[in-house]
Amino acid sequence: MGTGVCEICGRTVLLSAFDTCYACRGQRERQYEKVLEYLKGHPGSNIDLIAAATGVEPKLVLKLLQKGSLKVAKDAYKPKCQSCGRPVDSGRFCRDCARSAKPKK
Ligand SMILES: [Zn+2]
Ligand SMILES: [Zn+2]
Repeated sequence: MGTGVCEICGRTVLLSAFDTCYACRGQRERQYEKVLEYLKGHPGSNIDLIAAATGVEPKLVLKLLQKGSLKVAKDAYKPKCQSCGRPVDSGRFCRDCARSAKPKK
């Protein structure tokens, strides 16, 4: 408990378990539900996919995931190797695939 700034509208608010003011909370909850709904049907989705499909900002999706509000596999919000499907930290291919794909042509 304490005061803080609503992370959506920036107003100073009394914070409880939430980071948003009362007015913004409903909006946040709808976005949260959209993300949750999407993840139910697409459990392996990463943030970009979720954001694109739900229209929720990637930043917010990430936040929801980090808070643990959403139960997904830890690797689910990493990009996936486009060759073997393993989670990667960055880029389109994992290290192994990047190495074996390079000399093509
Ligand atoms: Zn607000
Ligand atoms: Zn790979």
